[in-house]
Amino acid sequence: MGATRTEGLARLHAFLPHAGRDYAARRNHDHGPQVRGNVSGLSPWIRHRLVTEPEVAAAVLARHAPSACAKFVQEVCWRTYWKGWLEQHPDAWTRYCAGVDAQAARLHREAALADRYSQAVEGRTGLACFDAWAAELVATGYLHNHARMWMASIWIFTLKLPWELGADWFLRHLADGDPASNTLSWRWVGGLQTRGKHYLARAENIAEYTGGRFDPRGDLDEKAPPLPPDAPVDSRPLRSPSSPLPGVRSGLLTTLDDLHPESAFAAMPGIEWVAAAVAPESGTGSPWPAGPVALAFRAAALADAGWRWGAATGLAVDAGGALDPDTEVAPSGNRAPADTVAAVVDWARARDLRQVVAPHACVGPTRPLLDALGPALAAHGIVLVQWQRRWDAAAWPHASRGFFHFRDRIGQLTADCAAMNLSA
Ligand SMILES: Cc1cc2nc3c(=O)[nH]c(=O)nc-3n(C[C@H](O)[C@H](O)[C@H](O)COP(=O)(O)OP(=O)(O)OC[C@H]3O[C@@H](n4cnc5c(N)ncnc54)[C@H](O)[C@@H]3O)c2cc1C
Repeated sequence: MGATRTEGLARLHAFLPHAGRDYAARRNHDHGPQVRGNVSGLSPWIRHRLVTEPEVAAAVLARHAPSACAKFVQEVCWRTYWKGWLEQHPDAWTRYCAGVDAQAARLHREAALADRYSQAVEGRTGLACFDAWAAELVATGYLHNHARMWMASIWIFTLKLPWELGADWFLRHLADGDPASNTLSWRWVGGLQTRGKHYLARAENIAEYTGGRFDPRGDLDEKAPPLPPDAPVDSRPLRSPSSPLPGVRSGLLTTLDDLHPESAFAAMPGIEWVAAAVAPESGTGSPWPAGPVALAFRAAALADAGWRWGAATGLAVDAGGALDPDTEVAPSGNRAPADTVAAVVDWARARDLRQVVAPHACVGPTRPLLDALGPALAAHGIVLVQWQRRWDAAAWPHASRGFFHFRDRIGQLTADCAAMNLSA
C-alpha cells in the first residue's frame, strides 16, 4: 500500500468510473481480499487527508450525475459526519479510552475472558468467517465495511466480548484507523449510539453478501438484545477555528489528522513560513502496540507529507531527531506525551518562531498533544494556531444530531465545495 498522495490520487482516478450506480448496486458485497473492485479502498488516504473529502466528492461529481453518485458521496460524508459528531461529543472518546483501560485490566484478572479475547484476535474462534476476517485485518490493515459490521456484531453479541476491546483491536490494525468512524461505528453496532437500535449479524446475510464464501448458519446469536444503554454523552460547542497571522515567523506542524498541508496552507497569503516539522505518531490510545501495517502506513504517510511540503515551500522539513516520526510514543489515550511537547517547543524556540500552525486536531490521540502544546508554547511567547478546513467548518455544525439530518445538507455542502473551493 503506497502511503503517498500520488498513490491515493491514482486510486481515486482508477475508481471514478465505478463510483456511480455500479457502486450503489455492488458496494455491500465482500467477495474477499482479491476481489475488491466494488469499493474504492480509499479510506487510509482519506482518513489521513492525503486525499481530502471535498476533492473526492468533486472528482466523483465531475464524472457522474449527482443522482448516480449520491450513494458514494454520502458514504464519503459519513466520515465527516462522525468526525463532526465526536467533535461535539468528545466524552464518547474519553469514555471509550477509559473503557479500554478497564477491560484490559479485566483481562489480567479473568483468565477465561483473556482466553476468549486471545482466540478472537488470533482468529481461533472456530467461526470460519470471523477467523478469516481476523487474519485479513492483521495481514492487510483493511476490512470491507460489511465485514466490519458483521465482525463487530459477532464480537459483541455472539462472542460476548467487551465492545471497547474490539474497537481497540480494529483501531490498532486498520490502516484507516479513525477515532471517530471506529468508535462511533462500534457504538452504533452495539446499540449505544442510536439508543436501543443495534446491528445483529445474520448468517443468511453473510452467506448472501460473501457469495457463499461463508455460511455460519446456526452459529450466531441472532436474537441478542442491544447492550445496556450508557449514560447520555454530553454535547459541547464546536471549538472556534483560528487563523494564522501574516508577517510573523511561522512554523508548520503537520499531524496525522491532515497530511495535505499544501491545500490547507500553501495558498494563505502573507504567512512567513520559516520552518516545518512532522509530529510523530501519537499512538491509538491503547495499552497495546499498533499493528505493523497501520504503523508502516502512517510512518510513510507522514514522510510523504513532509517531502511534499518541503517541495512546495523549499523548506527543510524537520522529521528527524527529536521529532522523529518513527519514535514510538508511549500509549497516550487522552494524555499528551510530554517528550513530544518538549521537543516541539525546543524546535519552535530554536527557529525563533512566533507562531506554530497546525491543522485542527480532531478528538482522538492527536488532540492531547496540541492541547498541551498551546500553553507550553505560550510560556515562550509563541502562539499555537489550529486551523480548520472550510469543509469541516461548513459541515460539522450540522453533525450534532442523527445522520439523516446531516444527509439533507450534503447537496448544499458539495455545491458550496464547488463554489467556494472548500478543498482549502
Ligand atoms: C465497526 C466499524 C468500524 C469502522 N472503523 C473505521 C475506521 O477506523 N476508519 C475508517 O476510515 N472507517 C471505519 N469504518 C467505516 C467503513 O467501514 C470504512 O470507511 C470503509 O469500509 C472503507 O473502505 P473503502 O474505502 O473501500 O470504502 P468505500 O465504500 O469505497 O467508501 C468511500 C469512502 O467513504 C468513506 N466511508 C465509507 N463508509 C463509511 C462509513 N461507514 N463510515 C465512515 N466513512 C465511510 C470512507 O472514507 C471511504 O474510503 C468502520 C465501520 C464499522 C462498521
